[in-house]
Amino acid sequence: RKGDIHKIEDYLWEIPKSFRPKMRVPARVLASEPLLDDIMEDRSLVQLVNVASLPGIQGASLVMPDVHEGYGFPIGGVAATLYPDGAISPGGIGYDINCGVRLLTSNQKITDIRHRLEELSKEMYAQIPSGMGKGGQIRLSPQEMEDVLRTGAEWAVEKGYGKKDDLAFMESRGRLGNADPSLISEMAKKRGTDQLGTIGSGNHFVEVDYVEEIYDTTAAKAFGLSKGQVVVLIHTGSRGLGHQVATDYIRRIMAAMPHYGIEVPDRELACVPFNSEEGQNYFKAMCAAANYAWCNREVISWEARTAWKNIFGSDQSLKLMYDIAHNIAKVETHRVHGEEVGTIVHRKGATRAFGPGFEELPEVYRSVGQPVIIPGSMGTCSYVLVGTTKSQELTFGSCCHGAGRRLSRTAAKKQVNAPVLKEQLKEEGIFVEAGSFKGIAEEAPIAYKDVNMVVETVAISGIAKKVAKLRPVAVIKG
Ligand code: 5GP
Ligand code: MN
Ligand code: MN
Repeated sequence: RKGDIHKIEDYLWEIPKSFRPKMRVPARVLASEPLLDDIMEDRSLVQLVNVASLPGIQGASLVMPDVHEGYGFPIGGVAATLYPDGAISPGGIGYDINCGVRLLTSNQKITDIRHRLEELSKEMYAQIPSGMGKGGQIRLSPQEMEDVLRTGAEWAVEKGYGKKDDLAFMESRGRLGNADPSLISEMAKKRGTDQLGTIGSGNHFVEVDYVEEIYDTTAAKAFGLSKGQVVVLIHTGSRGLGHQVATDYIRRIMAAMPHYGIEVPDRELACVPFNSEEGQNYFKAMCAAANYAWCNREVISWEARTAWKNIFGSDQSLKLMYDIAHNIAKVETHRVHGEEVGTIVHRKGATRAFGPGFEELPEVYRSVGQPVIIPGSMGTCSYVLVGTTKSQELTFGSCCHGAGRRLSRTAAKKQVNAPVLKEQLKEEGIFVEAGSFKGIAEEAPIAYKDVNMVVETVAISGIAKKVAKLRPVAVIKG
């Protein structure tokens, strides 16, 4: 109920710890008032309150303005637990381990290539396999699978499916060192054998956009963005492999939980201590699945680059601006009540958003901060933001990951006439190529919240700053 939620500053709301006896920390919502009303339509806030009871949770259980209901934890949520014995929970990371986005920049201007967009979208669709369960051209041998799981995007670079220069422009350089391929089941490996370089279903996409507006010239310059420039946005994750890892470990962790005397308000919040055997096994398997996802986005970039050259000529190229995860857990140090503590930060439908000075960042970005990429929808717009020091104080260095779903897939399908929508978008100058009309309906712009409102919220609350607005012109949908 709204009466239980207190406004603590503009765009920041709190449900106090006293609301439920099991809460260990308060629950906080980043949202404008209209967005908050939207958020109260589903079970997001119930889930947020449940998360506040996780063993070892620090500071507050948090949701971003793009929040919506998910498996156990809300999508758009951040939960930091105490390192090393606080909880790790697969539901706080999600089924698509290291689902994430990357942005590639070109040296083309939209005004010069508008007449070639239809041709470009067809070529992209031809080069990039999409659709549920769909395989690609690469078949990984068992040894290659192990290398992918251990080395992530580096594998793609070594095999000629990627560029060495890309690595510095990925979160964690596209590789988590804790990965252990031996903890991934044969079933998961089997599902991943032929899925590198594929985007998968529905919500995933490869999109051509142009920079419509620049808000922060210094950051835009550092990121290599300029008005009118054409860019490519890629959204996908670890495909069937990551999904199987999540399934395998949710089952194991549910079984192990009673052994550690853990009780949670919802069984979908199943968790174990991070430093327990089951906790470590899941973490190392999650890191391996995350590496698969980074390798996947690198191979997809190579396919997009091939399409690009086929249309615009071999002297044209795409440069990686940045790649971020939005379904992942990371061990990080944060200040909690004025003290530095080691934490396990679960980000589910949330991205990292570190401010200036973070040493992992490529040198050219270090003085401005980490790029944050916020996709909106295929018919509206998307944003590039930059992380701030304030996010490290308020949200464990995190930000929203999109506009966030407003309608369920079923509801969207009922409301949307996909062939009509496709035509409408074409008239607006947006070419959509998708495997099915069902996919288009489920992903219609009205299925999502207003990305402008979501981005205003994070900008005003200070956890990220607006850098650029992107407008879609060609969308390849899963
Ligand atoms: P998720 O990872 O939660 O599935 O999706 C992240 C976000 O991507 C969604 O919240 C939505 O705002 C955005 N999104 C979904 N489909 C598209 C699309 O076709 N194009 C763009 N630019 N954004 C999309
Ligand atoms: Mn995603
Ligand atoms: Mn995903």
